[in-house]
Amino acid sequence: MSNVNLTASYKLVSREFHPEPTVIDVEGIKIGGGSRSIMAGPCAVESRDQLLSAAKIIRAGGAQFLRGGAYKPRTSPYDFQGLEQKGLEYLAEARSVTGLKVVTEVIDVNSVELVAKYADVLQIGTRNMQNFQLLREVGKLAKPVLLKRGMAATIDEWLYAAEYIISAGNKNVILCERGIRTFERYTRNTLDLSAIAAVKQLSHLPIIVDPSHGTGKWWMVRPMAMAAVAAGADGLIIEVHPNPAEAQCDGPQSLNPENYAELMDDIEDLGYFLQQKNAKKRIVKVEKAII
Ligand code: PEP
Ligand code: MN
Repeated sequence: MSNVNLTASYKLVSREFHPEPTVIDVEGIKIGGGSRSIMAGPCAVESRDQLLSAAKIIRAGGAQFLRGGAYKPRTSPYDFQGLEQKGLEYLAEARSVTGLKVVTEVIDVNSVELVAKYADVLQIGTRNMQNFQLLREVGKLAKPVLLKRGMAATIDEWLYAAEYIISAGNKNVILCERGIRTFERYTRNTLDLSAIAAVKQLSHLPIIVDPSHGTGKWWMVRPMAMAAVAAGADGLIIEVHPNPAEAQCDGPQSLNPENYAELMDDIEDLGYFLQQKNAKKRIVKVEKAII
């Protein structure tokens, strides 16, 4: 890899030190190495009924992971903050009913132990990407960590954040591009799909994409999800709600069950298309033309 930028001083996350892609095993489900893993579910766990019905929809559509926040780091202190431990219990129940693995956010050092008892993957949200104490704390565990990109973080800063976790002992880091702040206000964030190629060049860690927070609009989720998979993302995390109009948070960017099912079909079709190996005709043609 002679053309890799060697100026970065992160080591453990670097592809230079670890050329093979890391594949993370989440209780038997693999993420990385082109896995196309799908995590889906509501922004927040709102009630037992809401979560169980969401989980059944997610299972039926074929995703392997159920997402849902029990602790919600909201911009306004007056907004719904999550069901906390009760929410974790509902997630565990949904796992035992559906077999889905659980992805949920941990927002502070004090609750790491509790969240880790229930979660299969610990999510570090955009607002905590540089909460170095929290990164060190999840670094002491063996549980996979989904590290979202800070909304104003460069790719380097994001990789350094991953380095904090790995250097504390936990190698199981999954990166997640979820959009960054730019001058554009039409979309909630600007989804940086170029980060997929950049991360693949710089690091061996899996990278997944969150087109829900990346756009803020449910109807933009499908095209951006497809683009992310086509660009080589190892998976997606998508907000899906049984009834987005009634969601306590992020309803406008949540897919309804029908749109979720359609997206899952399209992702599968795209997967078949990408696996076709017969697109080498032009290479041969050009090679012949050179001779
Ligand atoms: C979420 O996944 O619901 C969330 C809060 O994500 P982010 O940290 O990317 O805003
Ligand atoms: Mn959300």
